[in-house]
Amino acid sequence: MAEYDVIVVGGGISGLFSALTLGRHGKSVLVLEQNNFVGGNCRSYSVDGFQVDTGPHAITHLKEGPLRRLMDEYFTYMPVFVDYGHYYVRTEKGLTKIPSNLKEFATFDPLPKKDRFLLSQSLTKALTLNAFGMLDTNLSLCDFLPKGLSKDTVDFVGAIAPFLSGKSMKETSVNRILYGSSFVRDSVSEYIFDEEPLTDRSQNDASYTSMITEKLLKYQLSARLSTLGRLATNKVAYAQAYPRGGLKSLLNAVLYSMPETVRIRTGMKVTRILTEKGNASGVATNNDSITADAVVYSGFVKSLPSLVELPEDYIEDLSRIEQTLSLTIWLGLGEKMKEFDYTGSEVWFKDGAYWAMPISNYDSSIAPKGKQLIGFTFIIKEGENIESEKKRALALIQRAIPGIESRIEMTHYQVTVPEKAAVTINGYFAGQRSPIPGLYLVGTDTDNRSMGVTRAAFSVLELMKAMKEDKRL
Ligand SMILES: Cc1cc2nc3c(=O)[nH]c(=O)nc-3n(C[C@H](O)[C@H](O)[C@H](O)COP(=O)(O)OP(=O)(O)OC[C@H]3O[C@@H](n4cnc5c(N)ncnc54)[C@H](O)[C@@H]3O)c2cc1C
Repeated sequence: MAEYDVIVVGGGISGLFSALTLGRHGKSVLVLEQNNFVGGNCRSYSVDGFQVDTGPHAITHLKEGPLRRLMDEYFTYMPVFVDYGHYYVRTEKGLTKIPSNLKEFATFDPLPKKDRFLLSQSLTKALTLNAFGMLDTNLSLCDFLPKGLSKDTVDFVGAIAPFLSGKSMKETSVNRILYGSSFVRDSVSEYIFDEEPLTDRSQNDASYTSMITEKLLKYQLSARLSTLGRLATNKVAYAQAYPRGGLKSLLNAVLYSMPETVRIRTGMKVTRILTEKGNASGVATNNDSITADAVVYSGFVKSLPSLVELPEDYIEDLSRIEQTLSLTIWLGLGEKMKEFDYTGSEVWFKDGAYWAMPISNYDSSIAPKGKQLIGFTFIIKEGENIESEKKRALALIQRAIPGIESRIEMTHYQVTVPEKAAVTINGYFAGQRSPIPGLYLVGTDTDNRSMGVTRAAFSVLELMKAMKEDKRL
């Protein structure tokens, strides 16, 4: 008999969500994390009295998204969320709210009037095509943009694209922009939470199938109409928030909710996924072999071929996964600056781009009394030298916010891969099932919906669905 029902490789938020849900369904679970801490890209730590997160975070889809479903179904302790606020662009003239809908577009003066008109027309066209299922999902933002836009406008769109997809306008689809800006919203499949898997019932029960089909059609119609309606009413920061106490509050809520059937071991790097008669049967670490009936892998799916034998065509698919490297610079300011007197985040787009969040405005305990903590994130182009990127990034911050250098008391750098897979037009997402029975995959390279923690939560709901269908849950 195996030592555990399930071994989860990786103790980031995807691995921990997986362990929580599986544990609450009565499984004995072992989580193995290679670092001496859990949380992966979803944690906080102290630097010179300031509490930094692993990159600035907006937690999305909180009203009815996958994280909300996981929290409602499995958390015994809820983090407190503070409303996100707004997204702004910063220019030499200060901050302007990023337009969420056509009305706001009309008055968005960082861009020339003619360009705003052209962009509004394009947005209406894209949403109409999407609403009627006619938008080519491979159409790149670059090819869709109207001709004759000014450099500023192209730079603006060019700055937004990587923060929504991880890559440039050329590699980002229009579809992705519509989802990323909340015009179109992903839904959570209801039947994941059904007592019986859909596949079983649909095979035997025609009335159940027709009921589901009818529900789906009604849903699709109303979703299409509300998508178009959002031209007038959309909010980019729809149902978004920041966890009071920092990102670690979300992590702590998951750890606090963990049932006793889950064991977490840190400092344990999995070096091999073991198989027996073609099925996953456990893992090997540097000094141990541990058996389990199933393995859930939450590391980079791209690295899977180094851990287990896989078919050639699958390895070929995995090689299509694209990633982006980011640089975050945390600046601890000795005193608050009026430039950062807001909640939400800002984007700078002129001759370089950043995305910044003054996170201590959500919770003053994140910075020492009277001080302020701001996180600035940059995308690092492939092959660039990290040290010169840091210098360039700091110079850009100083250009965008004159006078900031004299307030800086703490500087902390993080170089990270924010999502395990960028949502590019030809990019690959692995899904939850691997070619090896009993080896499942979760994380931000297994599901392309939404982003970050929300995407991780989507992947775990899909894991549950797959394991139910495979009669392992
Ligand atoms: C700068 C930045 C900004 C971001 N902004 C947002 C945002 O605004 N909103 C949002 O929702 N998300 C955001 N994210 C993304 C979000 O933090 C991540 O998507 C999420 O934390 C990923 O979780 P994960 O568990 O899938 O992966 P990870 O956090 O990478 O966790 C994987 C874990 O597996 C472990 N592991 C891997 N291989 C092995 C092995 N062989 N053996 C043992 N352990 C192993 C790793 O050490 C790691 O701890 C941001 C991230 C960054 C870096």
